[in-house]
Amino acid sequence: RSDKPARSIVREQPASTATIGAAAAAEAALVAKTSSKTEVLPKAKAAKKAPAAGPRAPAKKTKATGETTVEGIRISHPDRVIDISSGITKLDVVNYYLDAARLILPHLAGRPVSLVRAPAGLGGQIVFQRHAGTLHIPELKELDKAIAPDLPPMLEVNSFAALIGAVQANVIEFHTWNTSKKNPTKPDRMVFDLDPGEGVGWKQIQEGAELARAFLAEIGLASFLKTSGGKGLHIVVPLTPKDGWDTVKGLSKRIVEHLAAVVPERFVAKSGPKNRVGRIFVDHLRNGFGATTASAWSARARPGIGVSVPCEWAELGVLTDGAHWTIRNVRERIEDKGDAWRDYAKTKQTTAKAMKTLGVEPGGG
Ligand code: ATP
Ligand code: MN
Repeated sequence: RSDKPARSIVREQPASTATIGAAAAAEAALVAKTSSKTEVLPKAKAAKKAPAAGPRAPAKKTKATGETTVEGIRISHPDRVIDISSGITKLDVVNYYLDAARLILPHLAGRPVSLVRAPAGLGGQIVFQRHAGTLHIPELKELDKAIAPDLPPMLEVNSFAALIGAVQANVIEFHTWNTSKKNPTKPDRMVFDLDPGEGVGWKQIQEGAELARAFLAEIGLASFLKTSGGKGLHIVVPLTPKDGWDTVKGLSKRIVEHLAAVVPERFVAKSGPKNRVGRIFVDHLRNGFGATTASAWSARARPGIGVSVPCEWAELGVLTDGAHWTIRNVRERIEDKGDAWRDYAKTKQTTAKAMKTLGVEPGGG
């Protein structure tokens, strides 16, 4: 090889095949191949490249004293500690979303959103809110009722004012649907949520994610990785909106069942804490109509206030856990790399090959 010093060329070792089981040896080898590239973070290079400009630049920082105003939005109780474990205040959350506005808004705009509010901090009641109710948030949009005729109007956050207004209303998390308001009957992505069961180490989660990625690639689906900001990882598969909800949900179920069948030592498709012990539960239920997942760049209402951060697959090996980034340390990440999903918008793919390979019929059969 002319691209590497001879000393750095070593034989590639498959990643712990013994623990994974013979049935998955082929896949493990595939994983070893892909993960051997993951050692070095291409940080310095990426740092030079400014993240794409979003709809609006963040406003300047606010002072940490008294009531404060951000772009005309009054922030009440800025000094209220919302997370006792870290001392993080409401103003810290506001400032995080100021930093992240240009990154999160493209992920929120055009999608029904649910809001997770913590009006009395993490120690109080956490409210999961799908509709406006009594909230009066400037510029928060109510979407066409036709999207979900049986429900009150869904919400959309598509502006800086709506974003910061929501945070003023004590929103910490933003969860979105797998569809755009333009084409609500056709999902534009699948999400696989990797949840570690009791006794599952982080290394196993990393391997699990790599296995899932390799399998998805095998069936013709490019995927994108993000930390959940909580305990695990989320894998997002963009789709050209073409199939209906039942088809996409049926396919996602089959994908998860297949993973659990091929690598039962590592994956489980059934929920419930007992099934999960020592395994990773991959939740496909987030792919049904009206289901939500924490958005890329959402902060999380958990101790430490983690952030769900888009990553390159090459970074998987250096992540320390699902809350690798919190609102305390994410700023550098925002400045260095911004949104790592550079190819996301370019990824045009349908379920066709996956459906054929796994023998899934349209409609979810
Ligand atoms: P972790 O990595 O820690 O598992 P996560 O984001 O994957 O983090 P949860 O925060 O447990 O997992 O998310 C639960 C799922 O259920 C999310 O998809 C969320 O959108 C959804 N959800 C959470 N609360 C409610 C609720 N009250 N009603 C409906 N859906 C909810
Ligand atoms: Mn999860």
